[in-house]
Amino acid sequence: MSEEKKITVALAGNPNCGKTTLFNSLTGATAYVGNWPGVTVEKRSGVYKGKKGVRIEVIDLPGIYSLSPYTSEEVVSRNYILDEHPDVVINVVDATNLERNLYLTTQLLEMDVPVVVALNMEDLLKKEGASIDEEKLSKILGVPVIGISALKQNNLSGLMEKAYEASKEKRLGKSVVNDSSLTEIFAKAVPIYQKREIANPLFHAIKALENDEIEIKANAEAYNEVNALKEGDERDYEADLADARYLYISRECAPLMKRKASEEKKTDKAPRLTLSDKVDKVLTNKWAGIPIFIVILLVIFHLVFSEDFLYLQAMGAFGEGIVVPDLGDSAWTGFFIGESGLASPGVLIMNLLNGFTGWLQGLVAEGFAAIATPEYEWVSSLVCDGVLGGIFAVLGFLPQILLLFLFFSILEDSGYMARVAFLLDRIFRRFGLSGRAFLPMIMGFGCSVPAIMNTRTLGTDNEKIQTIRVIPFFSCGAKLPILTAVSGGIAIMFGMPYVDLITLSMYLLGMIVALVSVLAMHMTTRREKVPPFIMELPAYHLPQPRALMIHLYDKMKHFLKKAFTIIFATTVLIWLLQHLSWNWTYLSDEGSSSSILASFGQFMQPLFTPLGFGAQLNSLGWVFAVAVVTGLMAKENAIGTLGTLAVSIGALASIEGVGDDMVLATMIQATGLTAGGAIAFIIFNMLTIPCFAAVATAKSELPKGSFKWTIIFWLVVSYIVAMAFYLMIDYVWTIAIFVPLFVLGLVGLFLYDRYKTKKENAECGSPS
Ligand code: GDP
Ligand code: MG
Repeated sequence: MSEEKKITVALAGNPNCGKTTLFNSLTGATAYVGNWPGVTVEKRSGVYKGKKGVRIEVIDLPGIYSLSPYTSEEVVSRNYILDEHPDVVINVVDATNLERNLYLTTQLLEMDVPVVVALNMEDLLKKEGASIDEEKLSKILGVPVIGISALKQNNLSGLMEKAYEASKEKRLGKSVVNDSSLTEIFAKAVPIYQKREIANPLFHAIKALENDEIEIKANAEAYNEVNALKEGDERDYEADLADARYLYISRECAPLMKRKASEEKKTDKAPRLTLSDKVDKVLTNKWAGIPIFIVILLVIFHLVFSEDFLYLQAMGAFGEGIVVPDLGDSAWTGFFIGESGLASPGVLIMNLLNGFTGWLQGLVAEGFAAIATPEYEWVSSLVCDGVLGGIFAVLGFLPQILLLFLFFSILEDSGYMARVAFLLDRIFRRFGLSGRAFLPMIMGFGCSVPAIMNTRTLGTDNEKIQTIRVIPFFSCGAKLPILTAVSGGIAIMFGMPYVDLITLSMYLLGMIVALVSVLAMHMTTRREKVPPFIMELPAYHLPQPRALMIHLYDKMKHFLKKAFTIIFATTVLIWLLQHLSWNWTYLSDEGSSSSILASFGQFMQPLFTPLGFGAQLNSLGWVFAVAVVTGLMAKENAIGTLGTLAVSIGALASIEGVGDDMVLATMIQATGLTAGGAIAFIIFNMLTIPCFAAVATAKSELPKGSFKWTIIFWLVVSYIVAMAFYLMIDYVWTIAIFVPLFVLGLVGLFLYDRYKTKKENAECGSPS
């Protein structure tokens, strides 16, 4: 048996040039691809198995524009190549943006590592009618060059073949700079590193000339020697080197890009507006941009959540009430048409799934009824109401969550979300954040955990703390069940049929609370200027079905895993606590208001009285307190818990096939919860401490000392906002208190900010 050879290949390139797509295509991995700079924060590895006899490990590095330590991504990628010595670096280049991408190439070439240049997005280049002379480019750069399409998977085996060949030979770093005054000083500086046996002497010598921060610290002695070489001259080597590299690219490389004759003519004249530029004129318009974004969100929410598709029912399209076609005894009509109108696609899929799980649950219950004797009633109760009820209640939301994420992924992958970040940067700046903070926030709509991890890309600790604190306010997928079920219950009980509008306004409220909190922090405890943030807008892409499927698959996997682990465990635990009394005897469903769980809920209950779901409710009202607590393990639990409890307190005979909105409606009726209390319940759950997983992530990402305050912050904000809304909805006159209070608070903040700014200016030594 021959020993298998092993080599390591690192993918390096600018943000958004397609590294992760290439990584996924090569390794079959399903890493997150986003049409958005900065998605890959950490390096990731996988194995390419397409070459016989060689095990090729592929590393996806974060996207970078240069090897200078301006951003954490640049440091990660640079250190990886310097310290881990990959056998070859594949420099992924967005061929449609050749000149800008080659700047990084010129720096990679300075390292003593084999490099292969992959001209990616060849498909797009062809579509534009352009081509690049690979052979000539390879000759002048001195490394292999090959055109590929990571997305269409063209030429990938050719690329890996070239990479493998290149890995066999040593390569010495080389600079493209040919300005003699610079090359002369290189010739003197390089030996300084060689005599110390430092690897990559040319790279280090150049970095020392550039006064690179990391270099100064890493090789202090050598740096001093290099500095001695420049003695006397006042040259800005960093700027001169950058100029020399650009000069080289524009003189030697750029001409190798050939466009169609007709295109060339056009570009010679006045700058031509591409379709994408025209679209951008509208979408990123100063005034229209944000309203357009809100309209897009509205349409999406309508498609996913509305029970009255296109508001046909509300507009009276069905005349006097809805005409339900008589299809005999078929349960099918209910899936498409309900009392409130035609189901939107999201509601339709949800109805179908719930129909199926309800049928399944009924089947199991019947099975038990047929075989079980009364002593074993508890088994049936545990399996049907506890386990199946809890899990199905949560699964029921999967279709809507997936559909919502399909839409979000389309917006992101097309490049639109990056435009929104650009639009928001102007606004964010006033709040002490950069547009960069928008990516983690938007990711928060999916799940707070990766969103909080993504704050690593942010510039300062301040920006990080502020962003992490507000991420949970961007309501995550797991909170959706709370939003839709409670809004559904409200719709049924209080005759407000617009579930989609209630859900959307809750999402918007979360965002507003986030903005206000950030503002308040910026003006008081976290006063600091934001570092400048430059993000270029990625090109519009047609969303890729494969990438979309990967996103959805990830979501689904995550959700199912949770449903069958944490949620399963909590439902069983809840079931046990609610069927055991303090002296450990089994309580049937009817008796469960003397259960351990009930007394726990009753103990907690008064805490929520100011929020409308506390002691003012009748003797069954403790269920909401329990739901809040189980929600801390996983937010989906809150609704699952209410489903299980609905049966045990006797509000429902069984939850088989009963939608969650119905469960909530029943609970509202049984406990006497008001509309204000129900809304406050949503708000509190949405804004308060997120689930355990998110809390643990926040703890590990937050700078020391700010974790405790973050928890307090979440508790206080959620309590106050929920209370204000409960009171304003149920006691409308309190609006006359809260609105002025809110305005006063804002004015106070501004005044405080003015005062502080003045004081700070005075301290800066300006003669008063
Ligand atoms: P990264 O930031 O370098 O990791 O880039 P990604 O892999 O996240 O890709 C950025 C965008 O470019 C995504 O929308 C991809 O679908 C798209 N993309 C990547 N490779 C290709 C390609 O070969 N052709 C085309 N047309 N699009 C591509
Ligand atoms: Mg990436």
